[in-house]
Amino acid sequence: MRVAVVGAGSAGTVCGCLLKRSGCNVDLFDRAQRPGGRASSRLAEGLFSFDHGAQFMPFTIDDPGLQLILNTLPGFEGKLLPMSKEFGLVGPKGGFVSAQQVGSNVDDVISITGRDFFGAMKLKGGYMYTGHPTMGSIWSTMCEQSDLGVKGNSLVSNLSKTEAGWAVHGSNSLLGEGYDAVVLAVHDTVCVSQVLSEMTHSQDSTKDFVTPLNDLALKIGGIQRSPLYSMMVAYHNKDIEDVSFNSAVVDGCESIQWISKNQFQNSEDFSCWTAIATADFSKTTFENESLGDNPQTKMLADFEKCLKLKVKPVYCKTQRWSQAVTSNPLALNEHCLSFEPWRLAVAGDYIGKNANLESAVLSGIQAADRVLQWEHGV
Ligand SMILES: Cc1cc2nc3c(=O)[nH]c(=O)nc-3n(C[C@H](O)[C@H](O)[C@H](O)COP(=O)(O)OP(=O)(O)OC[C@H]3O[C@@H](n4cnc5c(N)ncnc54)[C@H](O)[C@@H]3O)c2cc1C
Repeated sequence: MRVAVVGAGSAGTVCGCLLKRSGCNVDLFDRAQRPGGRASSRLAEGLFSFDHGAQFMPFTIDDPGLQLILNTLPGFEGKLLPMSKEFGLVGPKGGFVSAQQVGSNVDDVISITGRDFFGAMKLKGGYMYTGHPTMGSIWSTMCEQSDLGVKGNSLVSNLSKTEAGWAVHGSNSLLGEGYDAVVLAVHDTVCVSQVLSEMTHSQDSTKDFVTPLNDLALKIGGIQRSPLYSMMVAYHNKDIEDVSFNSAVVDGCESIQWISKNQFQNSEDFSCWTAIATADFSKTTFENESLGDNPQTKMLADFEKCLKLKVKPVYCKTQRWSQAVTSNPLALNEHCLSFEPWRLAVAGDYIGKNANLESAVLSGIQAADRVLQWEHGV
């Protein structure tokens, strides 16, 4: 079976690799060069390594099989390790309380602070996993071990379906054709909504499924995505050795909601940290960027206060994520949408209840499962 997977974030990469290992002929398209999407990493100046998007993978689902499934995924074994227990809550002027100390008061803390970065506090540090040595290495190792290269720099603008199968179009060129099935795993929900609307328009409008499908397309088109900034900052180890924790939800700070040391990416000389901006600060700065607003000055000043640092970093850069967080996911019980008559599956973090990395990975697993069912005529 020939399958096009569009989008090589965590959902698309997991899906593509599972299909490839099950014998499908897979093309994995992404507008970027490497897999990972919002869970990728960056090497700066050949020296400093940062997870600049997703910081950890939470296991929130009470599913004993999940870790088992993950460990059987190519590339996951040994690549996803527990995050350091030196995790907790830090105040805007320093002052650290470990998650264990917060203990059963965690719900109170969340309601008072209004901060719970991707459910981190709820997990109390116990079930947070991170990529080894980086988040990005999970997806590239997975692709290598599955012998699946990403067709990078492929910005997909449309999909079409004829008797000869699915075709994948770029804005000026045909990127691929003759696919038996397509998995759409892009985070651009407007694009997903458009593809679904086009599919319904090509149908007889009296058919039962047309109205619900149109409704679904509208709902997907209405999904809100908000921006986030992440700041990557590196220090000489000697300048930061007094900091007693590795990662923390930040309480009461205007610009930063989460800070984390990149656990496995530090050298003998440097330690590399990522700070994630608050939603409100990101939104306001993003809207005023054209007026010259620059998030880095404020974020760095707040970061230095939280860590009580007196020295300047050796490296500092800010990454801008325009569609970072989904505030209103579809929240379905399933993690993937599938349209059997067209052999079209839709995957991504926004389908399940929690729009996070765990949801994206589960979505990729489910989408692969659906495609394989079609192949085997189940
Ligand atoms: C700063 C930040 C921090 C985060 N921290 C955490 C965290 O600690 N824990 C957690 O669980 N979650 C976190 N998240 C959320 C997590 O990163 C996402 O839920 C998850 O990575 C989503 O995976 P995905 O595959 O659904 O989407 P994506 O990773 O967005 O993948 C979509 C892919 O599609 C590609 N694409 C899009 N449009 C096109 C197109 N037209 N043509 C071709 N390719 C296209 C993109 O390049 C991308 O690679 C964070 C997100 C951000 C931005």
